[in-house]
Amino acid sequence: MTKEIRLVEFVVLPVTKAKARKMFQIAGACRFVWNYFREKNLGDYQKFRDAKGDRPQTSFFSLALEFTKLRHETDWLRELPFAPVRYTLKHFTDALKEAMRGKKGFPKPKSRARTTPSFTLPDTARFRIRNLDKKYSLLRIPSVGWVKLTRRGGNLWENGVPKQVVLRHDGRRWRAFVFYEVEVEEKGDNGKILGIDMNVCQIATSDGHFYSLPDLSKKEARRKRYQRRMARQVKGSNRREDTKKKLAKVSRKIANMRKNWIHKTTGDISRKCGTVVVEDLKVKNMTASAKGTVENPGKNVRQKTGLNRAVLNTAFGEIRRNLEYKCGRLIKVNPAYTSQTCSECGHVDKENRKTQARFQCVCCGFASNADTNAAINIRRLGMAQLHEEGSGISTAPMNREIDARLPV
Ligand SMILES: [Zn+2]
Repeated sequence: MTKEIRLVEFVVLPVTKAKARKMFQIAGACRFVWNYFREKNLGDYQKFRDAKGDRPQTSFFSLALEFTKLRHETDWLRELPFAPVRYTLKHFTDALKEAMRGKKGFPKPKSRARTTPSFTLPDTARFRIRNLDKKYSLLRIPSVGWVKLTRRGGNLWENGVPKQVVLRHDGRRWRAFVFYEVEVEEKGDNGKILGIDMNVCQIATSDGHFYSLPDLSKKEARRKRYQRRMARQVKGSNRREDTKKKLAKVSRKIANMRKNWIHKTTGDISRKCGTVVVEDLKVKNMTASAKGTVENPGKNVRQKTGLNRAVLNTAFGEIRRNLEYKCGRLIKVNPAYTSQTCSECGHVDKENRKTQARFQCVCCGFASNADTNAAINIRRLGMAQLHEEGSGISTAPMNREIDARLPV
């Protein structure tokens, strides 16, 4: 038996005005705390970066002490629950550490207009969850009270221990993401290995299956139209507010469609095999800006932006994360030449790739769908890697961090 973290998503049913106000207040306090500590640490960070000062404190512990003091001195903050507001500092110190390592810039301020209202109930927040087997469940948020929930995604975990809840307002209503710690039996490996080729608009598996992404182009076009319309309209006008709502709605639709597809596809793949082999692409590299610099302007800027959009559309990272915890084992292989290599005879040739979709070997004449051929090659590379490492490897991430990532 191992412990894993599982996510169940709920929608919060409408609450009283007082409760709603309180929830937004908590989210606002989190934003305030973020900005306050950002401001406070900016100077030290800049000095450190320019090698003029010492390394600033970045531990959650040291900032949390300061928070306790701040809360003691600030009346309105004292009226809001301690643990959820303080937990903002966990997010902030994580961001700060990234900045110190030079991985990212200094954390940006969170403006009221551009920040999604959200807050986290860590396991120290003493929240409670009830009636999970009923149609409506209940969640007790400290200083807000009980709110009604209805489940939207994920499975129930009766023996699971709820560890953390993230509340987030999607523009229309609050959603509650409950993270459970569950005891699971180690997934039996049925010995089947599947190679996967991820493409711009479809996933191909080595057993000849295809999973095509639903067509989002019409909805994407509508989203763009609303964005343009909103840019033209007067700030604060009713018409603009109207457009804003429509934009939020279509964005939500797109996100949901994509999410459903990812869950269905990765669920189906994980039921078929114990081990899955994927390309070790750095999604980030593929989506990095093609603009270049003034001295060295990027090539193919236009094409690349199109590809970026498409890459993001298929949400490779999300798919991989899903496969990572649904399948017993995930192997990443270098994808070089997988699209030019013949899966029958191993002949490598650019000419093998007749068109984007068609593969035909110039050496042995083997013909196949180009993506299926690539998936078979990927599977083979994965098997070779397994063999090398003595197959005793466990790449399944058993200890995902709780607040790793929420669905977008
Ligand atoms: Zn061949």
